[in-house]
Amino acid sequence: MSLRFKKGRANSITPELLTDRRVQLLLGWFVQGDIETLQPVLDQEDGIRYPALDPIVDDPSGAEPFLESLVYNKILDKRACGYILSCKGCGAILSLEVEREDASNGDGPNPTFESKMRCRRCGSNSTIDESSLRPVYSYTIHPDAIEVASSMLLVKPLLDFLSERGFTTHSPGILTGNSDIQHIFDIIAYPEGREDRSLAIDFAISHQAHGEAPVIAMFAKSYDCNPFKSLLVAIPRLTKSAKLLAKQYGIECLETKDTEGLWKKLIRAIPPAAKMDFETLDVMTLLALPDHLRKTASIVCDEGRITARGVSDVTRRSRAVESGYLNQLVQMGYLRKDRGGRRVYFSVREEDE
Ligand SMILES: [Zn+2]
Repeated sequence: MSLRFKKGRANSITPELLTDRRVQLLLGWFVQGDIETLQPVLDQEDGIRYPALDPIVDDPSGAEPFLESLVYNKILDKRACGYILSCKGCGAILSLEVEREDASNGDGPNPTFESKMRCRRCGSNSTIDESSLRPVYSYTIHPDAIEVASSMLLVKPLLDFLSERGFTTHSPGILTGNSDIQHIFDIIAYPEGREDRSLAIDFAISHQAHGEAPVIAMFAKSYDCNPFKSLLVAIPRLTKSAKLLAKQYGIECLETKDTEGLWKKLIRAIPPAAKMDFETLDVMTLLALPDHLRKTASIVCDEGRITARGVSDVTRRSRAVESGYLNQLVQMGYLRKDRGGRRVYFSVREEDE
């Protein structure tokens, strides 16, 4: 299996399209068999909605243009699967009639609405005729897109790899941050029952080197959620400055041009689920920490037990900043936290704790 993009194929899954993570996830669901057909439903508030798209489309009104663009690019096929009936007075959607797939006689569905319907929004009575009906569509993956998608997509094989390593997986996966904001990662994996040991993975796929943007996005989400480990998979690679930034932020990045290289690197980067455990803070670990955390961690090592104020007196960074770093080190498992009266103390976690 190779990730190299083939040019001049009949279908149009271009690298540009694959850089859209919505496209990646949607294709992944089709290829994995999680979705067979995207079917519309009528939602009292949002009108026509494709529930399967909820995790990737922020606004239900964006679903149809998104799907149509995929039809245009021969990634999806569409089929008239029913009609929606709109109020002539205010345009509100009154009803959706979807035909069962096996009931289709080839001519498309025949509408069987009442001859008159009263609108709940504006109260007017609509006489039903051609002008109040509009077809709705269901979408399936275009046959030619399946092969290309399955070889290009990483999500499915990576989920398999993680399952083999003993992880429970979610794609996309959601973690709630300290801010109570829910952040979406392309994959969240954790040893069974140990959601506090979450591995958060995002993909950045392009036909050229990535700048800082995916690194910054990963940092912002990880800073808020403190996953046990964050991994950014960059295809084909990051720019030099993006790599430096990732190092500074403590974001682990994995660059790869093809899937074979990816597996070799993943085996090194992702331990078996049973080994996803806290490490003790030794010299090597200290050296591997990003600068801003290393400074804080070293002071705790020197002092044994110390408050955020105590650390901030040494580093001259604000107490709030040190408190953030200390809590991050607690989440990472390097430090422990205890209370002495009204103060919160941080100390180094012992090996067998
Ligand atoms: Zn109306």
